[in-house]
Amino acid sequence: MAGFERAETIWFNGTFVPWDEARVHVMAHGLHYGTGVFEGLRSYGTPDGPAIFRLHDHITRMFESAAMYEMEIPYSAEALVEATLALIRRNGLIDTYIRPIAYFDAYSLSVWPRGCPVSVAIAAMPRKGAYLGAHAADGVRVCISSVRRFDSAAIPTTGKACGQYLNSVRAVQDAMRRGFDEAIFLNQQGEVAEGSGENLFVVRDGLLVTNAADAGILMGITRASVLELAAALGIPSRVAPITLDDLRSADELFFTGTAVEVTPIKELDGVAISGGTRGPVTARIQQAFLNIVQGRDPRYRHWLAYTGV
Ligand code: PMP
Repeated sequence: MAGFERAETIWFNGTFVPWDEARVHVMAHGLHYGTGVFEGLRSYGTPDGPAIFRLHDHITRMFESAAMYEMEIPYSAEALVEATLALIRRNGLIDTYIRPIAYFDAYSLSVWPRGCPVSVAIAAMPRKGAYLGAHAADGVRVCISSVRRFDSAAIPTTGKACGQYLNSVRAVQDAMRRGFDEAIFLNQQGEVAEGSGENLFVVRDGLLVTNAADAGILMGITRASVLELAAALGIPSRVAPITLDDLRSADELFFTGTAVEVTPIKELDGVAISGGTRGPVTARIQQAFLNIVQGRDPRYRHWLAYTGV
């Protein structure tokens, strides 16, 4: 897997600094204890120039994640929205992955982060290939992870905090070792939760099913977008728990997420789903989603923040 492609500058604590100068102190609390919160967004080339998909919603979620850890981000949401747009413009970028992060910085090794300053950075990188591999848009091969999703009683899964991704790292390492593209977590109750960095949808008899926050998932912005989009397309959907049997008897399965957009799942633990190809409902949603993010569907223009270049 290729590493990221650098951009020229990163927004770091209020100013634009060269990529190589955006450094973290080794005594940062966030480094030692995982006390940071972050987001993942994408910008796309559209007929009206580069635009960021659901920018405000992602920044809002970052503030919600910060609140779970009593972290006060020392900038307004509006300031971070403007900084993100300026970052894309300044670097002359079009198709990108954008990573805002806020973390407790160096001050004390006490687990209680009181007194630690909060640092904030926003980086944007040109997008390089699909997150789950070159052919992911046609379907990926997944396994049920032997690593379970952590319970919200321990760490809220609805937040997007740095330390919690140790759980996803272990699941991905396990999936890769076994030759799969991605892992699906079961939660502590043995129900289906989500992918290591994606939400999950089941299609059965024309009905879309995805699970709720109590299944131990992140409330994905792509998930919410797909639910809204499905309604507009006349595809019925339901939010309900998903079992392993539901996955095995599904007509179609797909992941949603900023990085993977709408990605069909063509194989589960070595067994073909939807005949090992992208199913018709998934294909419809995938195409409609791409039209939206690429600025080709005026009905969803309000989901795009144009950089104005
Ligand atoms: N679940 C997890 C664990 C994730 O990391 C992500 C990616 N942010 C998602 C789901 C999908 O969320 P979104 O659609 O907001 O990118």
